[in-house]
Amino acid sequence: MTNPIEELRPPTRLMLTPGPSCISPRVYRALAMPLVGHVDPWFTEFMGGVQEMLRRVFQTQNHITFPISASGSGGIETAVVNVLEPGDEAIVCVNGTFSGRMAEVAERTGAKIHRVAAPFGRTVDPEDVRRAGQGRKIKFVGLAHGETSTGVVTKIDPFRKVADELGALLIVDSVATLAGVPLDVDRQHIDICFSGTQKAISAPPGMAPITVNARVDEMLRNRKSKVQSWYFDLTMVTDYWGKGRTYHHTPPIPLIYALHEALRIVLEEGLEASWKRHRQNQAALIAGLEAMGIPLFVENPEDRLPTVTAVTIPNGIDGAKTRARLLNEFNIEIAGGLGDFKTTMWRIGLMGYSSQRANVLLFLDALERILLDQGMKLAVGAGIAAAVGSFGRAEPVAVGHGK
Ligand SMILES: *Cc1c(COP(=O)(O)O)cnc(C)c1O
Repeated sequence: MTNPIEELRPPTRLMLTPGPSCISPRVYRALAMPLVGHVDPWFTEFMGGVQEMLRRVFQTQNHITFPISASGSGGIETAVVNVLEPGDEAIVCVNGTFSGRMAEVAERTGAKIHRVAAPFGRTVDPEDVRRAGQGRKIKFVGLAHGETSTGVVTKIDPFRKVADELGALLIVDSVATLAGVPLDVDRQHIDICFSGTQKAISAPPGMAPITVNARVDEMLRNRKSKVQSWYFDLTMVTDYWGKGRTYHHTPPIPLIYALHEALRIVLEEGLEASWKRHRQNQAALIAGLEAMGIPLFVENPEDRLPTVTAVTIPNGIDGAKTRARLLNEFNIEIAGGLGDFKTTMWRIGLMGYSSQRANVLLFLDALERILLDQGMKLAVGAGIAAAVGSFGRAEPVAVGHGK
């Protein structure tokens, strides 16, 4: 037990996890800026800039666009509880823990939720959604764009089509994808889209950017019952983030400073460049892992989420011990699996500021050393060579991010 009144000195980790990702020194500086009040005229104007940048990152003109004061799960809660009323039915596509969480949150409202499932590691079939919705009045179809628990990315457009046929809203969880994977809220006609700040945006955890379109806004105004959650009632929170800037709750002001700086970094780099960087760094990581004989969990390359790579721990390798050595000897954090995959999977995140070429090489080198020590037969240097080869074939992108 350390002395509780000792000065705070956290380690400096390289977080290659499915969140939080590392943050730029610029974002650390923003966190340390002077605190102001939440209705200070300087702050209420500053909020407008954050909203405008969020619109650019979501690629939307939606007026109602702002960060909810909660982690990504609060984004799920906000999206779901605002549209569901007693007696409603909805469909949630479940292919992992986080899409399952959306279903769970929705079920707790008392609405009838139809879970349309896919085996973990795969995407849900839009045909199954169509079948599940046939002859029913479905309020929304919900899905996770990036399913972080298994490293799967879902193509949104086919679900938009099915939702249209069912007369349903489309709710998309983009916590693991926004700013790292192509997503265009207006062009893809996503009715409600939410994210988290600690993943590819690379701000600290604790806020959930959300955007809702005019159709949803109108639906919320015409609700028959009150939203079951006072804190996440969008119409009320919009009074603060809307024109009036009327007090609803005190938001985490320093986190909004940090989000502002992180969004500036994303937009300075450009969305297209950021998507490309994430894709290329993951391609190099995958090339390295495959050359080391580590099996990818998601078989279909098209379904692999560029921000999170899930692998099956090779036979004879102790997953927990490997992660502990990565952390203690190399300061690198990766994640294990969730639920059924707790002991059989590693998940390696390359998100936002963490998604850098140097980090891929550092990680492969550290992993190789640890696997060799555990007796795994692999050709020394093969992983790094494959990754370097992959980078060599890639088009040039800016190596750094937010320096
Ligand atoms: C991380 C994540 C969440 C949950 O976010 P928290 O910030 O941990 O509450 C939800 N959905 C997806 C897809 C995620 O990756």
